[in-house]
Amino acid sequence: MEKITIYEKIIKGEVPSYKIYEDDMFISFLDINPKSNGHALIIPKKRMSNILEDSILVRERILEVTKTVSKIIQKGLSNSSFKIVINCGEEAGQEVFHTHLHLIPYYKEKQDILSVDKIYKKLTVN
Ligand code: AMP
Repeated sequence: MEKITIYEKIIKGEVPSYKIYEDDMFISFLDINPKSNGHALIIPKKRMSNILEDSILVRERILEVTKTVSKIIQKGLSNSSFKIVINCGEEAGQEVFHTHLHLIPYYKEKQDILSVDKIYKKLTVN
């Protein structure tokens, strides 16, 4: 595997992120280049290069975490649908070689893309 990725720096707290969920095994934060408002990444803290290389435990748990994060997004942004994308390998569009799942909200009405900062505030206000 290549040397340390941006996600590991985020997990260690060396690089800031718009974190919306964390547990002992996973972290979720907003993608800085979102395909839609609320586009989030779900990432195991222990690095493997992609989900096909990852442990059974990660493969089993990642969709449960995704469901939890989807509820956080839906509560804050009232989107109607989601697309779940996992790129595995360079030719498939994977750029960061640390397992991650894209959770991309879809809306009934067309949305202007807001700043990630604004979206984060909507998701973290109680
Ligand atoms: P992939 O093409 O599946 O490897 O996706 C990598 C994703 O990581 C892209 O959508 C990037 O916008 C996102 N990304 C890269 N650096 C950061 C960062 N510092 N914070 C949040 N998302 C990032």
